[in-house]
Amino acid sequence: MNILAVVAHPDDEILGCGATLKKLSNEGHHVFSCVLCAPADARHNRPSLERLASVSREASRLVGISDSIGYEFKNIQFNTVPHLEMVKAIEAAIVRFKPEWIFTHHPGDLNVDHRVCYETTTTAAMLPQRLSSDLSPTLISKMFLFEILSSTDWAPPLGEGFRPNSFFDVSSTFDAKLKALDAFEGALKPFPHSRSKENVKNLANLRGAQVGFELAEAFCLIRDLNH
Ligand SMILES: [Zn+2]
Repeated sequence: MNILAVVAHPDDEILGCGATLKKLSNEGHHVFSCVLCAPADARHNRPSLERLASVSREASRLVGISDSIGYEFKNIQFNTVPHLEMVKAIEAAIVRFKPEWIFTHHPGDLNVDHRVCYETTTTAAMLPQRLSSDLSPTLISKMFLFEILSSTDWAPPLGEGFRPNSFFDVSSTFDAKLKALDAFEGALKPFPHSRSKENVKNLANLRGAQVGFELAEAFCLIRDLNH
C-alpha cells in the first residue's frame, strides 16, 4: 500500500504522524510526503535553507519516508493562495504517489497554513472519484487527521476540537520519531513548551493510555472506505 502525508511545514509529518509512518514503513508499506511550504522561511530559529533541506531529508528517512514533493507556498500565508492552485499541487502528489491512505492536518489548528492544508487536501483527495476510471489513481480509502503540538492544542476553545477516534500503537517506533525531531534543528523547544521533547512523549503516553497502549499517535479518521 502507498501512504501519503500532506503537510504544511517540513516537521509537521514527524510531529503529527512520524511514529505511525515508521511503523507502516516497517510493515512494508511505501510512505511518501508532500510538503507545501518546504522552505518555511518565516520561522524563527530555523536552520539555513540549505541546512533545512538536508535535515528535512534525514528526518524523513528516519521515519521511513522514501520520497517527497516539496512546494514553496509562503509560510503563514496559505490563506492568500487561490484554493484551486493548492488543490492542483496536492493532486499532482496524489497522481505521482497513488496513495490509498492520506494523513493531514486537523481543521481546528491555530496555524492558518494547517487549516488551509486540511481544506485543500480533503478537496484534492476526491480526485480519483472525479477522474475517468482509466486515468484515475488508486481510490483513497482512509484519511487521518493528526494533531500538532503548539497548534492543535493552542486553538481557541471553539468548535469541535481534536477528538481522536483512531489510535496506532507506536511503542516500537516512537524512538525513531524522537530521533527525527532531534535531527530537525529548531523543531523542539525547552520544557515546558508545548513542543518540547518531554511533552511530545507526554502526549504519546496520554494517547496510548486512552486505549491501553504504552505510546500512541491519535487521529481523527474522517474517511474509511472498505472495498
Ligand atoms: Zn506546521
